[in-house]
Formats: sequence, C-alpha cells, structure tokens
Amino acid sequence: MRVYNFSAGPAALPLPVLEQARDEMLDWKGGASVMELSHRGRAFIAVAEQAEADLRELLAIPPAYRVLFMQGGATAQFALVPMNLAAPGAAADYVITGHWSTRAIQEARRFVSVTVAADESASAYTTVPDASTLKPRPGSTYLHYTPNETIGGVEFPYVPDTGDVPLVADMSSTILSRPVDISRYGLIYAGAQKNIGPSGITVVIVRDDLTGRSRDGTPSVFDYRAVAEAGSMLNTPPTFAWYFAGLVFKWLLREGGVPEMARRNRAKAEALYAAIDASSFYSNPVARNCRSWMNVPFRLAKPDLEKNFLEKAEAAGLTNLAGHRAVGGMRASIYNAMSMEGVTALIGFMRDFERRYG
Ligand code: PMP
Repeated sequence: MRVYNFSAGPAALPLPVLEQARDEMLDWKGGASVMELSHRGRAFIAVAEQAEADLRELLAIPPAYRVLFMQGGATAQFALVPMNLAAPGAAADYVITGHWSTRAIQEARRFVSVTVAADESASAYTTVPDASTLKPRPGSTYLHYTPNETIGGVEFPYVPDTGDVPLVADMSSTILSRPVDISRYGLIYAGAQKNIGPSGITVVIVRDDLTGRSRDGTPSVFDYRAVAEAGSMLNTPPTFAWYFAGLVFKWLLREGGVPEMARRNRAKAEALYAAIDASSFYSNPVARNCRSWMNVPFRLAKPDLEKNFLEKAEAAGLTNLAGHRAVGGMRASIYNAMSMEGVTALIGFMRDFERRYG
C-alpha cells in the first residue's frame, strides 16, 4: 500500500513515473537497465537531450541560458556559485530568510566578500524583506536568495529586482511548482529530490555570459563553462537520476505543465492553511503574504501531543510529518507529486485528532 508521504526531500515522486521506471527496470530498450548502459551510448544521449529539451519547454528557458545537470546537490552550488561567478574577494549580496540561505552564506564567505542585503532574523524568519528595500550594493557581483525556505516554509511572493546585478536563486524546493520568468535570473540551481526526481542530480540554469568566469583552481567538473561544453558529461553522470528526471518532465508536460501545477499547488496550500487558521489547536507562524505553497510547517497548541500526532498520522498512512530536526513541530511538504486527495486526507486526520485530544 502506498502512503501519503509528506517528506521534505527526498520527497514523494509521481506514481505513474515510479511505475514506468519499475516496468523498464530490467529491460530498457533491449535487455538491460538504463543503469547498465554507457552514458555515451546513443540511447542514453537521447534521454539526456530530451530531458533538457523538456525542461526548457516546461520553464520556457530562453536560448541564452545553459542547462546543466551536475552533482553535489544544492550544497555544492553554495560554493560553486561564488567560485564560478566572482573573483577572489569580490563582493556579493546575500538575503537571509532562514536555514538554507544561512547555509549558503556560510559557504559563500569562504570565497567572496559577503554583504547581507537583508536579514529576517528579527521576525524569527517568518517574513521576507519588503520588495522596495531589497537592493544589491553597487558593484556587487550577484545577489543570492532562497525563493522558498524548505524548513521555515517561507516563500517570496515576488522576484527581487536587482537591475544589472545578476540574481541567483536556490530553487531547490520550489522549481517547477509554478511558472517563472527565467530572464529575471542570472542563475538558478536546484537539487532534484523534491520536484525533479531522485537525489543525486542538480539542475543549474545559467545565463551563458555568466559562464567562463570561474576562478583559478575551480575543478573542471564544477566549472559551469566546462560542464556546459561537455553536455554535462565531463564525467559519468548519475544516469538513473537523469533518466528519472526526464520521466518526471514528461509527466509534467502530460499533466498540463507548470501552469497546471501552480493551480493544483495553490489549491492544496490554500486548503491546508485554511484548516490550520480555522483551528486554535494548530498554528503556522509565517506571515500570510509569504507562506510557502510547498512546505507547510505547523505546531500543536499542546506540544506534548506531537509524538502522539505523528504516531497516529503514520498509522493512518500519513507519513513523514515531523518538522526538520533543527526546529521540531510538524511540516507537511506538498510538492507536485502530492495530490489534493493526500492533502484532504491530512486535513481530515488533523480535524479528527483535534476533536479527540485538542
Ligand atoms: N537548499 C534548499 C532550499 C533545500 O531545501 C536543501 C535541501 N533540503 C538544500 C539547499 C540542500 O540540498 P542538497 O542536500 O541537495 O545539497
């Protein structure tokens, strides 16, 4: 029996895609698994190229942008962004809105002179900075922000306007959840394990003129220009994750693309927040204008009931609802693969639990 899995990542994957991968596991185009074939073979090259073409279609990625399939997760990108975009000691702006942007800045400080363009710690990271106040310092190489903080459940309702300064976004937990105007960004990166596919592959979408600037000493496999020129095959890529991501992209196209995902994601998030707000037993601390569509943290009025809540939820087939270990509480991650039925089941369970124990 499949559960409703609210994991923040690696997260639930679309069932039809899992079924297709299962069906093709032993015999993919002629008696071997896709995992058992050369990445340089014609069959796999076609998979890789199709995945890029489909991602380009889904996000309407302009031709001036390169799409890279890399390794090392979003965490590697925390370092690779400054290594590739900025000379040693150059200035870069960072926006701090919670856990992941803090991690990004910690890594960046090893490579660039960081300016904090905004820091939402005063609200305990339940807000985003006002759009009008968010400006890069003149001379800054780029401005980095985290459109969706996966742990805090805080999501920017706008795209920062940084003028000529390239905007860099860690979209790990929001990519493909709705349309984005790629041309507003210099660089976007995202670990795959939420809305793209299995962990082990990282998507980077980078404006071509921002490649070829890496500092001396940047390893070739982490140099955007070198990776782009090698078709992301400078070394053996994670072929299964890439193939699987390609299946997810096809699924997204069949389902109506990112506009349809946006419609569903908005509806799921609105239903869940409405249920939380209607109750005095559950609460979400995030300011209403920046509540995440993807990660919904919530607390119980009686924290000593948390363990009971999680156990009963699991028994009801609603799994992985514990908040991140850094913050506790609950968190429901409701990425593209989570259905409205799953969210409705969670809401029903929450009401029932409140009636019994609230
Ligand atoms: N950034 C964000 C927004 C994330 O949610 C995560 C992982 N949950 C990371 C970065 C780190 O990603 P990875 O484990 O792929 O390095």
